[in-house]
Amino acid sequence: MRFSFILLASGDSSRFKSKIPKQYQEIMGKTLIDISIDKIRSFKEITKIVLVYNKRHKKYLKKIDLKNITLIIGGKTRNESTLKALDYLKNQNTKGKVLIHDAARPNFSKKLIKNIIINSYLNRVVVPVLKIQDALKEKKGKKKFLNTEKNNFFLTQTPQSFNLDEIFHLHKKKELEYRDDDLSLIDTSLGVKFISGEKKNFKVTDIDDFKILKNFNKSNQKIGIGFDVHRLVKGRKLFLGGIKIPSKLGTLGHSDGDPILHSIIDALLGACALGDIGEKFSDKNKKFKNIDSSILVKKILEEVKEKNYVINNIDINIITQYPKLKKYKKMITKNIAKLCQVSIENINIKAKTTEKLGVIGREQAIAAEVIMSVIKYD
Ligand code: ZN
Repeated sequence: MRFSFILLASGDSSRFKSKIPKQYQEIMGKTLIDISIDKIRSFKEITKIVLVYNKRHKKYLKKIDLKNITLIIGGKTRNESTLKALDYLKNQNTKGKVLIHDAARPNFSKKLIKNIIINSYLNRVVVPVLKIQDALKEKKGKKKFLNTEKNNFFLTQTPQSFNLDEIFHLHKKKELEYRDDDLSLIDTSLGVKFISGEKKNFKVTDIDDFKILKNFNKSNQKIGIGFDVHRLVKGRKLFLGGIKIPSKLGTLGHSDGDPILHSIIDALLGACALGDIGEKFSDKNKKFKNIDSSILVKKILEEVKEKNYVINNIDINIITQYPKLKKYKKMITKNIAKLCQVSIENINIKAKTTEKLGVIGREQAIAAEVIMSVIKYD
């Protein structure tokens, strides 16, 4: 079965007291929108992603990775925005299921999405819910409060899953009334399946929520370190960070001998506790002879992505007496950003010499060290 994903991000974010709307606030270099989309992209069942945005926020869209994403301008209400996105999907002849999600809830786990997808095969509507744990009172007049039976109440979350056709027609006929992010009118004849939601999938409404979200992500952060050194010899090419550097000396190595990319691989493997480059790509294996190290980076990136890690930032020291690298630093940064899918602002390169001391000072070797942080989403 095919799934589409509608991400509603067109709210005006008025309760969030900040110049930048909350959807475009960044945590570890990623906007709340990107955090949701990154997780959704890893589901093969989800073949279409529609981002509904506020036309007043257009200038912030450049912060988002819009690859394979359809943009729709939102309406005045959540209802209108949802209908616009559904309308687009219908016009595209899209079939199957649709997950509707609020960009203000970026902290859902992939496990929740998996659970929603599984339940969608057997149910027409799937809604994650949470029990109420605090005591719940009902206001009656000015001074009276009633104790309520909290077990009769529950909280709903998004994403919620629907048959695309069905939810489209209900919206068209205005038979479903959405208020904020929950179905306020659910006819059980629709076949609604309530599944367990997640406490951490809370809605970011104000600055305090955002701080909680930030701390949450900090606690999922891990650090890795990488180091590599190669001999500099005549008759070999010099690759640094995937860029060919004009040089009379090149690196000796089984692969292309790129010390920056090798250090990046080790730092990444280190942060994710997945071993080291030698275990992954043996220098006894002919397959890797003279291989472009970018290919090796991509392979490891795939592996860590499977395990729900994303790179947060990379700091690089390149230690060499020769050649001078000042004019290549920007180019290398750009290439690493593209290769590792990290924004340029989260990559830093420092070129160092050893003051002519040791093998590096004698221009016989070149070394790199990398420290990197990653975030694990579960
Ligand atoms: Zn190496």
